[in-house]
Amino acid sequence: MDSVGVAAATPEARPGPAWQSKCPWGAPSTTSISCSLADVMSEQLAKELQLEEENAAFPEVVAAAEGPFITGENIDTSSDLMLAQMLQMEFDREYDAQLRREEKKINGDSKVSISFENYRKVHPYDSDSSEDEVDWQDTRHDPYRADKPTTTPRRGFIGKGKDITTKHDEVVCGRKNTARMENFAPEFQVGDGIGMDLKLSNQVFNALKQHAYSEERRSARLHEKKEHSTAEKAVDPKTRLLLYKMVNSGMLETITGCISTGKESVVFHAYGGSSATEDKVIPPECAIKVFKTTLNEFKNRDKYIKDDYRFKDRFSKLNPRKIIRMWAEKEMHNLTRMQNAGIPCPQVVILKKHVLVMSFIGQDQVPAPKLKDVTLSSEDMKKAYYQILNMMQQLYRECNLVHADLSEYNMLWHDGKVWLIDVSQSVEPTHPHGLEFLFRDCRNVSQFFQKGGVAEALNERELFNAVSGLNITADNEVDFQAEIEALEKMNEDHVQNHGKKLSTFSSDGDPPIYDE
Ligand code: ADP
Ligand code: MN
Repeated sequence: MDSVGVAAATPEARPGPAWQSKCPWGAPSTTSISCSLADVMSEQLAKELQLEEENAAFPEVVAAAEGPFITGENIDTSSDLMLAQMLQMEFDREYDAQLRREEKKINGDSKVSISFENYRKVHPYDSDSSEDEVDWQDTRHDPYRADKPTTTPRRGFIGKGKDITTKHDEVVCGRKNTARMENFAPEFQVGDGIGMDLKLSNQVFNALKQHAYSEERRSARLHEKKEHSTAEKAVDPKTRLLLYKMVNSGMLETITGCISTGKESVVFHAYGGSSATEDKVIPPECAIKVFKTTLNEFKNRDKYIKDDYRFKDRFSKLNPRKIIRMWAEKEMHNLTRMQNAGIPCPQVVILKKHVLVMSFIGQDQVPAPKLKDVTLSSEDMKKAYYQILNMMQQLYRECNLVHADLSEYNMLWHDGKVWLIDVSQSVEPTHPHGLEFLFRDCRNVSQFFQKGGVAEALNERELFNAVSGLNITADNEVDFQAEIEALEKMNEDHVQNHGKKLSTFSSDGDPPIYDE
């Protein structure tokens, strides 16, 4: 934008956007400078136009295009295309200038600013990224595909005798084309042409339509890319504001850096501040887990939360952004249950929207290693195994939870023991897939320790029974899995019939135990 300088000009610096002074709708100049479409659209010319204030350049082109535009019967389609693009450009510039003013007004002198960057229109010459052009030819929306003639009668004409009007009538067709502009994407600024008796020729309409589609795709790609890159690098402005407030309020001393960038979250290290929240003393070192607000990864994880009855009523009413907050909320609740049962895990400090602050497992900014990254003596390995067996039982029986992503990736080795982390996806055992998740956890744990040389390690089926207290006797994986699914189904049927879940599973024919 700056290269053109039109919308970038501050309102104070100029009485109005520069284009007003060379507005195509203003008094046409008689100066004749011939230039081709390619010239006009080129960045260099755009700069020249701006720098030298060649007022004559645009009006000249408009003057050339004026005739065909009004009669609707044009021969020179290049000028129509240009006209369409210029129209578009002007609306976009106006729009961007307005956005800038609003942005400025909102931010004022604040140290933290909110950017409307994502809402800005994008133009070929002010986009700084040439990669955006790569798949310009994308044909998902074929711009040349014929529209269904919805407004023209089947027989192709209306009226009688000499008043007959066919669909080829210029005036009718022009008006219809103008009306059809309304079908462009909502963000596509078509201006006030719809309100006027504006007749767009087919060529102009098609050029506009094509432009609308390609702008839509460009814009979508650009915005998507930006979201990804900010989420990848650090966090979006809203999250930054949240973090800033935490530091500003004295809850955190400093945020030192990023520990991990995963698919669903970014984790930061911070030194705890001096102010206490909700009677809690802030740990000297904290981990800040920021759940990503890009939604891609969470789509795959719907099943963990959608079927969790604790969230069932709320789920359907929420938008995706709120669902992400629920992940953070879920992690907090699950960690609290674990904490209460005495399972080594991060201690919750505070939850703000999609940002969870907890105690840091590690020391001096160095996070404790994951079990997969640490080499333990065989003695420690055995110790770790029994500790995990014990923790899985506690988790199931005391916390009424199944981790559902338990593996050497989500267990940290710190202070000579194993710490469980990453419990946003943990569910209660009576979740429709709870037992399957538990079986998968058991498989991961069992395989890790068997490979790690712990001779005492139970196999996955034995471990499953040891944790759940169920007595599934199948001696092979397939049958075992089938029995698990049968139990889950029995529970679901029970919910259907009694509107109530079993509090625990029982596989030996005992009457189910209810939660009162
Ligand atoms: P993800 O869903 O991205 O896997 P995790 O909760 O597993 O999120 O966190 C990612 C990584 O961040 C962990 O593997 C661990 O290395 C680090 N981490 C997370 N929480 C803590 C914590 N409380 N203390 C220290 N490191 C942590
Ligand atoms: Mn993890």
